[in-house]
This record gives sequence, structure tokens and C-alpha cells, in this order.
Amino acid sequence: MTEERSARSLEEKEMFFPPKEFSSNAVIQNSEIHELGQDRNEFWNEQGKRLDWFKSWDTILEWNYPFAKWYVGGKLNAAYNCLDRHLKGARRNKAALIFEGEQGDRRVFTYQDLLREVSQFANVLKSLEVEKGDRVTIYMPMIPETVIAMLACARIGAAHCVVFGGFSAEALKDRIQDSQSKVVVTTDGSYRRGNSIPLKANVDRALPSVTCINNCVENVIVVKRTGQPVDMIEGRDIWYHEAVENVSIVCPAEAMEADDMLFILYTSGTTGKPKGVVHTVGGYMVGVSTTHEWVFDLKEEDVYWCTADVGWITGHSYLVYGPLSNGATVVMYEGAPDYPEKDRYWKIVEKYRVTILYTAPTAIRTFMKWGESYPSGRDLSSLRLLGSVGEPINPEAWMWYYKHIGREQCPIVDTWWQTETGMIMMTPLPGITPLKPGSCTIPFPGVHIEIVDHAGDPVPKGKSGYLVVREPWPAMLKTVYGDDKRYEDTYWSQFKGLYFTGDEAKWDEDSYFWVTGRVDDVINVSGHRIGTAEVESALADHPFVAEAACVGRTHEVKGQAVFAFVSLKEGIAVNDELVDELKAHVVLKIGSLARPDDIFLSTELPKTRSGKIMRRLLKDIAEGREIGDTSTLADVGVINFLKENIDARR
Ligand code: ATP
Ligand code: MG
Repeated sequence: MTEERSARSLEEKEMFFPPKEFSSNAVIQNSEIHELGQDRNEFWNEQGKRLDWFKSWDTILEWNYPFAKWYVGGKLNAAYNCLDRHLKGARRNKAALIFEGEQGDRRVFTYQDLLREVSQFANVLKSLEVEKGDRVTIYMPMIPETVIAMLACARIGAAHCVVFGGFSAEALKDRIQDSQSKVVVTTDGSYRRGNSIPLKANVDRALPSVTCINNCVENVIVVKRTGQPVDMIEGRDIWYHEAVENVSIVCPAEAMEADDMLFILYTSGTTGKPKGVVHTVGGYMVGVSTTHEWVFDLKEEDVYWCTADVGWITGHSYLVYGPLSNGATVVMYEGAPDYPEKDRYWKIVEKYRVTILYTAPTAIRTFMKWGESYPSGRDLSSLRLLGSVGEPINPEAWMWYYKHIGREQCPIVDTWWQTETGMIMMTPLPGITPLKPGSCTIPFPGVHIEIVDHAGDPVPKGKSGYLVVREPWPAMLKTVYGDDKRYEDTYWSQFKGLYFTGDEAKWDEDSYFWVTGRVDDVINVSGHRIGTAEVESALADHPFVAEAACVGRTHEVKGQAVFAFVSLKEGIAVNDELVDELKAHVVLKIGSLARPDDIFLSTELPKTRSGKIMRRLLKDIAEGREIGDTSTLADVGVINFLKENIDARR
């Protein structure tokens, strides 16, 4: 057996402990912290004090099922908490944002710089009559002006609605229409692998088909990024650099009710049509600030890099609001991980001496596929903590990350959460929680998560079931924008009194949680529910496999059978023996029940634009039916290729 092969399947007993020095310096060293969190209201009441409030709250929580109000009566401003309050002390000239462009350009903003830019742009928005409660769509690449625009909205009490810059005009239109934004902020274009991609042109294409109920999209503000030609419409379109010229750099922060809306963000669309999730100022800010400090063990001197695009919730909570509210130094990178070479991430770590890196399993599996020579050629010794989010991380990828990026010195925080939860909900606290590769370990203090059966009763240890949240938590979504009923139906109707996550999970003997996949994706073989993550991990454990996606296909006898799509590591040739070997590997790891009936070897798997595997489309292919909604898919070519090839085999 090769080293890589000695590997693991879900629930291996092996535990990983943080280095002694890490534990003895950790922000959280008290292992009773989870017990303290059991007095939920008291715990979050205490954490509320970490922010600066214009007026303190009267009541910690008003719970009018299923609508929660946190920090009732309190007044605060999110931008003030991310900027102004740091200016009182030593952080005034600390780097808040270190930006690296794909072309290698670099800009650094101190906290003072950032406050100036944000205030100025906030005044621009005000001059366009954007008021408290209005919505502003931000359709931008990963550049500092995106963060500035978000914080400028927050400063004046307008809700931002960030739309990932990789989305099409059509997807943009849906989101502008749903949010009825008054202003759109965009760029001429964005850089991707050396090419410039038009964004303003997409806005121009989207806007005419938006049905406007009142005052929507009166102005478009355009940041000049690539310099590509754009059409500017007289009276509607404004250049950012012209707009901010000679505008006052002073703009008071609006005192917002804790329960006022901070932003709307659409979910990734992995399981269906995206939902417009509404987050509030108070509860959200307390939630992300607390989790960011504790989960990432944040110290004053850290250089923190979250690779997520600001168009996703991870970008909102852990690139902008969490780290900036904590006064961190944040690295922001504009481009692709393989531009100009496949070691770009590791060059950035080396260059800025990044200490904390937060990325996604999809990226880690891609790095594995490319091979370890890329990270090993760079000095990664500054890293002291690694994080993962977005999908279950298979133990194989976990081990690779641990070894080749973390040099076996860095704890890995596998963080489970959702757009809707706003903040990390299950995670290790790196100084005190022993790690198991593939498990997001245990709920964050003050968060009450359970696994229940179909009747809503908790399952015993060792069993799997539906992942639910039993008690409200501060960063929980307020509602689905403009649709309280959809909010109730989607999240609170499956189990009486419980928030339903849509995920399935298993609980082990040590009370560790293992997310086994989406409920919609569970494969039911002869009455046994098999989580997609389990079979996929078993396949990815094979040394030739880069990534795997499994779906259930209707089977006359078994009800469903496993259909697996597998992408191979670079340099591995597709052949029939390998298919049999992979089937046998699954049997070895899990048992014959999970043995795939069919395995299709491919170079790529279909993913959402946030990098998650889209099983529902694979299922359509496996069943030989029409392919469903592909609007959130990163590359339609992949799915078309799979469909053609698999249909041809029928
Ligand atoms: P949609 O709700 O529109 O289908 P989505 O669920 O992909 O999209 P997100 O809010 O971005 O939208 O993703 C949250 C989901 O991602 C979780 O419900 C879970 O399935 C998965 N997830 C996130 N982090 C982890 C993790 N650490 N381990 C396992 N799964 C994770
Ligand atoms: Mg979801």
C-alpha cells in the first residue's frame, strides 16, 4: 500500500491534537466553554458586549416562532464596528485590507484609509438618494471597491445585495428584480486568467428586462478596473472615480435597530432555486465577530486570508464583517488559483506571510489533483491554522491539506454552516477540540444542533438522521426577502419547532457530527439510506481518484442503485479495470450495499459557481431525463459532455 492509500474512511477513530504551543496560546483554552454556552441567552448577552453599540439592548431575544429578534432595543452600525471603533487605538494605521490583483498589482488599506473611502462612497450613495432600507446590488469582482461599497451601504443603512461577478446577465436580472435595488454598483470588467470579462455589459443586458415596482435601478456606478470599453448611459451611469471626486470624507454612521436588515444574499443554488436570505445588523454582527475570533484563534498580528468570493456568504461573514469587526489584517485576492501558475495561492501565502488560511474542499481537491510540487516549492511556514467550508471534506483531502499545506503543524477547522445560518455553527475550537478528519466536530458554544429522525426526535449516538437547529441563534436569517411564507415553509415546516437545514448527518460515539450529504441527495438502496459523502469519500480515498460525485438511480429491485461520477488525478488514464477496482474499493471501505452499479470516469464534475458538486443535475443524467435548472452552474460544457456520453451508452 502506498502512503496515500493507507487512508481513511469516514469515522476513523484517529484523532489529531493541536501542537502544545498552539493550545497554550489559544484564544479559547477553557474546555468548559461549551457548557457555558448552554445558557444560551446569557452566553449571547455576554458576547453582545464585544461590539460598540450606540444604545444597548433591553432584551436579548424575542422569540415569536419562527421569527426571532435578537438584541431588541439595541442600536448599532455594522460599518462603524468594522472601522471607526478601531481608529481610537493602535489599529488606526494597521493594514485592514491587503489586496492582490490577478495581474500582480497590490493595494493596501489601513483601517483609517478604509474608513475614508467608505465614508466617501457612502456620501455618493446618499447624493443619489439612497436611503435607509433601500437595496443596492453589487455586481463586482474581488477588488477593494467591492468591500468599500458593502460597508458604505451598511454605513447609511441601505441593504446590499452582492451578486457573484461570475453570474450571467440572466441570473443578475433575477436578483435585481427580486431585491428591487435602487442602484447597481459594478465594474467595466473583471480579470480571470488574464482575460477580461465584461460586467457592465451584463448589467446593460439585465436592466431592460427588470420589472420595476418602484424606483428600481435609477443609477449604475461603474468602477474602472480593466479599462475595456463600456457604454455609459447618460443620466443613469456614473464612473466611480468621478463620483467620489471632491466628496466629503466624513459621513456619520446611521444608528440601526439591531433587527434592521444588513443585507440580502442569495443561496448558492445547489439544491434548487436560490433563496434571498435576509440578515440583520445586530445578531449577525455578534455571531460573525464571535465565531471569527474563536474559530480562527485570531491574534492581533495575524495575517488572515479567506479565499472565498465576496459574492458568497463566506465572503460576507469571514472576509468582510467577521475579520474587520475584529480588527484583523485581511488578504483579498482577485483571480484564479492557477494564474499565471498553479502555485499562485502558495506564492501569496509566502509573500504576505499568511498565518490563517480559510478555503474550500473543492479547492483542496484541485490542488491535490495538480500535485504537491506546487506548495512544496514555496515557504508556507507562516501558516498556523487552516480552515475548510462549503462541502463535506473527505478525509483524504483533509489529510493532504494537513500534510502538504499545514506541514502537520496546523489544526484544521472544518466549519459547517449555511447562507441562512450567517455564522459558523459546527466547528472545532482549535486550541481545545481534538480533530477527526472529515468531521466538523461539535456545535459552537451557544448553538443547539441535533440530529433527529422523521418524527423530530433525537437519534441515539452512532445513528444518522436529519440535521436541525433546536434553538434560535443570533446570526440566523430573519426571513426570505419579501416572502415570510417561503421562510416558514422552507425551514420550519418539516419538524415542529425545529429549523431544518436540509442536510443529513451522523452522530458518533464521541458526539462528533459527520455531515453525510443533502437530504435530497441521499441514496436509498434496498431501504438503507446512504449518504453521498460516504460513498464519495470512499472513492476519493483511492490513489487515482481526484474527486467523486454519487447519485441514486432508479433500480427495479433495490429501489435505487449508486451511480458514481469520478474524476481522475492528472496523468491517470481511463480504463475498464479501474472501474472494477473502484467498485471493489467502495465495497472494502463501506460494504457491498454501497457498491456502485455504474461508474463514469471523466475529467471534470459539474459544479456550482461556488464550487460545489451539483448532484441534482447528475441525477437527471443518471435517470436519462431532461436536465433541470443550470443557471447556477459554473460550466455548462461539463454537464453537456456527461449527458452526451452517458446517453450514447444507453
Ligand atoms: P441552496 O440552498 O440554494 O441549494 P447551498 O445550500 O449550496 O445552496 P450554501 O448556503 O452556500 O448554499 O451552502 C450551505 C450548505 O453547504 C450546507 O447546507 C451543507 O450542505 C454544505 N456545507 C457547508 N459547509 C460544510 C461543511 N463544513 N461540511 C459539510 N457540508 C457543508
Ligand atoms: Mg442550502
